[in-house]
Amino acid sequence: MPYKNHEEKLAYDKWYRENVLTKEEVQKYNHEYGIKNYAKIALHQKSYVKENREKVLAQKSQYAKSKKKEIKKLFVDMYGGKCACCGETILEFLTLDHIHGRNGFGKTEKEARGLPSYRRAIREYKPDFYRILCYNCNSSNGHYGYCPHQRN
Ligand SMILES: [Zn+2]
Ligand SMILES: [Zn+2]
Repeated sequence: MPYKNHEEKLAYDKWYRENVLTKEEVQKYNHEYGIKNYAKIALHQKSYVKENREKVLAQKSQYAKSKKKEIKKLFVDMYGGKCACCGETILEFLTLDHIHGRNGFGKTEKEARGLPSYRRAIREYKPDFYRILCYNCNSSNGHYGYCPHQRN
């Protein structure tokens, strides 16, 4: 045997399989020498990919969340830093309010709600059109047409 050790033989075999043998011959080799092993490896790789996929997806959603917070913070900083009604300053409680409603946006308008509306408010900077409200004041305004804070 021309190989110095077992590893060298394995490395040569691998090279041989990859570079010399035909596909059919490789399949035959796999079948003869490692079919059980190959099935095991495939299974292992599958679960590895799955784990990684979840990791990647988690990272992605984490990134989206922090991106969203960044944009929201920029909006809040630009428009005074607190709820226009009650003065709440905690970022997580704050949201964008369209002072004159969403008139002119149309229901299908992409930039009427959610993150795109923040982007638009930052881009346009119109304190007459956009303001900060906390979720409490905003939803009370939405449901009742007024906020109790303004009804002493
Ligand atoms: Zn408020
Ligand atoms: Zn209020």
